[in-house]
Amino acid sequence: MTQNYSQPIISDELGSNRPNAAAERNYFARGVQTPALFEIDGNPIPALVAEFGSPLFVFSEHALRHKARHAREAFKQRYPRTSFAWSLKTNPLKGICQILRQEGWLAEVVSDFEYEKARDLGFAGPEILFNGPYKPRAILERAIEEGALLHVDNWDELNLIEKLVEKRRQPLDVGIRVWLDAGIRPVWSKFGFALANGEAERAAERIVRNPALRLHTLHTHIGTYILEPAAYRTATQKLLALRDALERKHGHLIDCLDLGGGFPSNSLLHGMTGPAEQVVPPIEAYADAITEVLNRLPEKKRPLLRLETGRHLVDEAGYLLTSVVAVKGVHRSRAEQDSLSARDYKEQLIAGEDSKVNYILDAGINPLYTAAWYRFEVRP
Ligand SMILES: *Cc1c(COP(=O)(O)O)cnc(C)c1O
Repeated sequence: MTQNYSQPIISDELGSNRPNAAAERNYFARGVQTPALFEIDGNPIPALVAEFGSPLFVFSEHALRHKARHAREAFKQRYPRTSFAWSLKTNPLKGICQILRQEGWLAEVVSDFEYEKARDLGFAGPEILFNGPYKPRAILERAIEEGALLHVDNWDELNLIEKLVEKRRQPLDVGIRVWLDAGIRPVWSKFGFALANGEAERAAERIVRNPALRLHTLHTHIGTYILEPAAYRTATQKLLALRDALERKHGHLIDCLDLGGGFPSNSLLHGMTGPAEQVVPPIEAYADAITEVLNRLPEKKRPLLRLETGRHLVDEAGYLLTSVVAVKGVHRSRAEQDSLSARDYKEQLIAGEDSKVNYILDAGINPLYTAAWYRFEVRP
């Protein structure tokens, strides 16, 4: 006789991914308390505020370097030919850019302001990847002169670049931006040439045929805060297929695949149920998705892999310190509060009828507009 074991069905009322669920269901439990934050990288918070004032942005160098090294290891262990660039628009603060530069990051810029900033910070021309849909002529001329890598976004820009390089003796390395359906929604169709209708291939061919240009990179930036590592697998496969087609037709093997940014951080978005460790895939999952595809190629054909990381590196390194400047609210009288049974007290908490206390802070949405999409952790 065989007996099959069937798993007992546990009511999903408890919520499988939610450590708080049990506490919520336990009528007499007090729920989860937010731990207080006393210091950042060993600096006591009152001392920081006393020295620099409030409100105050603070970034943890330790957290930033840790995140950067972790991401670098995850990719380099699987695929040694990986190179990283810091997306300046994510955070252009000098200190942040310099730390990442020390960690070996290149600069990824999307505007003339960011290009100039990267140069001022000490990035050499060839250490700059120039994305962005609009690169004004003056900055294009400078970037070409200084040897930055232009990622061409559209036909008008290609026309202009072709004019600017007409008289060159050495071909100029450029990349093209490609948009594609990586199986996630929304599809970001705003950056670069379309893959599906052959536009990207036509742009690539035009560059390959131009003796003043050399096609160095196929670039795509499929979105941001992408929770689906498989999307990167698809994007990698699709860019490789284009690279293959170009090699077959023109004998030109493209050096570099740039998969942009988009890796999520552990700050949850509004509406997500945490904890982040359970709902946000680790960077290793993204590294697997991308490098498994690349590692299937014969070694000699493996391209340089580039990534343009942004929020994944910096989000959790940042704090906004803010002070309580006033307290107001509807307080229940002490006597009333004290006379409640534990059950009634809990019931009031659940029904939201408990004393409401409002704290007025010296910082709001203006200095932290990302709070519109992130559910930031608030710590006393
Ligand atoms: C914004 C941006 C990035 C960084 O995006 P994250 O989602 O923060 O990683 C990378 N590449 C390009 C072209 C960008 O515009």
